[in-house]
Amino acid sequence: MNDTVSMIERMRENNTGRVLIVGMGISGIATAARLHRAGWTPVIIERAPQRRSGGYFVALFGAGQTAARRLGVLDAMHDRSATTPNLDIDRNGRARPGMAFGDMPGKPWMMLRGDAEKAAFSALPEGVEIRYSTVPTAIEQDPDGVDVTLRDTASGTSTTERFNLVVGADGLRSTVRSLVFGPHQDYLRRLNYMIAAFEYPGTPKGLAPYQGATLLEPDRSMWVFAFSDHNPTILLTYRTDDVDAEFTQPPTERIRAAFGPQPLGDTLGDVIDAVDSTDEVLFDSAEQVHLDTWHRGRVVLVGDSAWCVTLYAGMGVSAGFTGADLLGAMLERHPSDIETALSEWEKALRPYIDHYQETAFDQRKIFVMDNRPQIMLRRAMPKLTKFKLGTRLMERMMRMDDIAEFKNADIVGKALGQHAPPERTHSA
Ligand SMILES: Cc1cc2nc3c(=O)[nH]c(=O)nc-3n(C[C@H](O)[C@H](O)[C@H](O)COP(=O)(O)OP(=O)(O)OC[C@H]3O[C@@H](n4cnc5c(N)ncnc54)[C@H](O)[C@@H]3O)c2cc1C
Repeated sequence: MNDTVSMIERMRENNTGRVLIVGMGISGIATAARLHRAGWTPVIIERAPQRRSGGYFVALFGAGQTAARRLGVLDAMHDRSATTPNLDIDRNGRARPGMAFGDMPGKPWMMLRGDAEKAAFSALPEGVEIRYSTVPTAIEQDPDGVDVTLRDTASGTSTTERFNLVVGADGLRSTVRSLVFGPHQDYLRRLNYMIAAFEYPGTPKGLAPYQGATLLEPDRSMWVFAFSDHNPTILLTYRTDDVDAEFTQPPTERIRAAFGPQPLGDTLGDVIDAVDSTDEVLFDSAEQVHLDTWHRGRVVLVGDSAWCVTLYAGMGVSAGFTGADLLGAMLERHPSDIETALSEWEKALRPYIDHYQETAFDQRKIFVMDNRPQIMLRRAMPKLTKFKLGTRLMERMMRMDDIAEFKNADIVGKALGQHAPPERTHSA
């Protein structure tokens, strides 16, 4: 213990623990905060000119809650699960009781991406250096360090600086990955589904305030994620045979084409109109990232840049928190041996990520179904779960045992051979 403390002190004194974190999403911020706690001096660079807030719905499963508690940020978030029952609606205005995401087994917390981002940011000490509008353009490493050329896109200037470790937390289309590991096409796997996600200002037509709804049709769906204390967020998702073509026109045109040609009806029509008037719409294809290894020398990838599991797995934020905490823990455990620390980190984390990636294909059907029989089965679920047998059937279908083993696990505790961290003392 004393050896570790003096090593950390020496690293601070000699400035040998300088780590560049590329990308200021949830994974990057959480990693910077955790590595700072482990004695490193983080420098964060972010392509955007400022922090990204708000956004879309995310569920935080037990694994993410436990990692957040270990990171000391769980108390900065709270469960925004809606209390009004969800509706299953169609275009003709028909509505019946439906299942919300929060009704799914596993009891995840419902929140916005911005909630998790703010919570992670709250753990970042004030002095940590953040450079916005900055991107890496070259990365060269030798056994002792990494030289990174950084371009300030606001001023158009570049500098080359040396770091002891570089963390690529720059998302699905990571520049760090393409500079160090190779081109995107070697690592991205398309699922052939598109997503549009955004915050809806107020209450969509046809719904009561704080009421969520799903509109399910073969190969396309609309989700209104309601919260108990916040505007809802929308998810429109649909199948496509040609992902490239989806990016050749403005999102609303593609969305209208995907949900046409039938009349949209009140709620869906209102939601699609809102795409036009909303500043921040995330419009993208669902893609996974697959790499044989997440680290090369002194460069390591975390979060979506390393393993994007897609929204259908519902585990991207949880995995980001877990990866950050475990990375800090392994660097503390092997303070003078980065290679071992990174290998141990990856060995402990990979079985979980592999599982999230594999199950994402099946779980996509929670969000968007292939055909009418799947939709009819979904519609029957609220009735079925009134009976014990029905509940058991649903638990088997939803793979409850998997949820306990993978989605709600204390991954870091298991890797370190520790018990679960103490429960939170109060609710946020
Ligand atoms: C609609 C939707 C719903 C989702 N639902 C869930 C859910 O229910 N549960 C869950 O756990 N997860 C969910 N996810 C996934 C989750 O949001 C992501 O996995 C997670 O936010 C990824 O965080 P990240 O920090 O790894 O990457 P990002 O959030 O992509 O952050 C990357 C950052 O790097 C920056 N950047 C990019 N390139 C560069 C560069 N060259 N230089 C500098 N900076 C750069 C970007 O601007 C960005 O700030 C959902 C995702 C979507 C889209």
